[in-house]
Amino acid sequence: MKIVLGAVVLLGLALTLALAVQEGIDTRDAVTLVLILGCGALAFAAIRKARLGAVGPNRCPGCSGLNSPHAPYCKHCGLRFED
Ligand SMILES: [Zn+2]
Repeated sequence: MKIVLGAVVLLGLALTLALAVQEGIDTRDAVTLVLILGCGALAFAAIRKARLGAVGPNRCPGCSGLNSPHAPYCKHCGLRFED
């Protein structure tokens, strides 16, 4: 699904570039191109983040203290986290 999204973004970008070259690029085309590039960059960033897994703080079930996501135990109360 994420790969499909990336492919769609790339295809759209390639089509826009092809059209821009064919029609002779003007300000309006350039603005559209920049917008599409921005959306593409955002999509890629989202895909990359999703692939790596959303990393957030780990809340301790014992004391509700926040710990780093891969901490083996709670830094507040010492409770050992299960893997
Ligand atoms: Zn704790």
